[in-house]
Amino acid sequence: MIQIDLTGQVAVVTGGSSGIGLATAELFLRAGASVAICGRNAERLNAAQASLIAKFPQAQLLAARCDVLDADDVAAFAAQVSERFGRTDMLVNNAGQGRVSTFADTTDDAWREELELKYFSLIRPTRAFLPMLRDAEAPSIVCVNSLLALQPEPHMVATSSARAGTLSLVKSLASELAPQRIRVNSILIGIVESGQWRRRFAEQAAPGQSWEDWTAELARKKNIPLGRFGRPEEAAQALFYLATNLSSYTTGSHIDVSGGVARHV
Ligand code: NDP
Repeated sequence: MIQIDLTGQVAVVTGGSSGIGLATAELFLRAGASVAICGRNAERLNAAQASLIAKFPQAQLLAARCDVLDADDVAAFAAQVSERFGRTDMLVNNAGQGRVSTFADTTDDAWREELELKYFSLIRPTRAFLPMLRDAEAPSIVCVNSLLALQPEPHMVATSSARAGTLSLVKSLASELAPQRIRVNSILIGIVESGQWRRRFAEQAAPGQSWEDWTAELARKKNIPLGRFGRPEEAAQALFYLATNLSSYTTGSHIDVSGGVARHV
């Protein structure tokens, strides 16, 4: 495995209290970075903080309650990071969740909520952390996006549409921020085992059906060539690559982490 030393650098991961964000925070800590995570639910945040500190007792870790859709929360989170660490080198815009709905059952309010979540979960943290990123030596922003951006699914019509829009936003940001040396990229994920799938399992699995059986059946139904869901750490590794200097000549780009589900060439 390639070793990379991030001692002295600061990584901010929104939605770092669960799933992909938590796995990403762990990779940054393992590489020696100081890490700030945020989420809305204090209990989840405390549990994430405790699990990270148990693995990395010396960790420089800030866990802050912040809703990325709330401008004041995000400004306060950036201020806390500035006060504690004095800098931000890498921002991972990960916070969010998907919405299962067809055109027929998506109300105007649901469309607005979904578009707000997908756009402003990128816009607000990016805006708040830009001043610190501009001062970093090799700054980067990485956004968690979905393969739905390029391959929409009718049962996730609003999420797919919003994801396509934010893929475009990442491209524009990459062009606008390149002269400031800030790289901006994203990952396109398929299905990754994490909090939101555990919640769907609890709601949808047949009585007595195990998590393994439920996910294997879904992987078959969804024709995932690699035959399984992805793991949070597999998405995290792609985020880590794009956030660090391992990808120093890559911007405005994306990595597919979908187990081969993409049908386009
Ligand atoms: P999890 O539910 O495990 O984690 C989501 C994280 O985001 C939690 O820490 C959650 O904490 C936080 N979060 C959600 N909304 C907000 C908010 N408004 N402000 C701050 N934090 C928030 O899910 P995943 O790890 O699977 O999801 C990570 C990202 O990947 C999401 O953007 C999701 O949409 C995307 N994605 C995931 C896929 C998958 O198959 N897993 C597929 C495609 C995309 P809290 O709830 O306490 O705020």
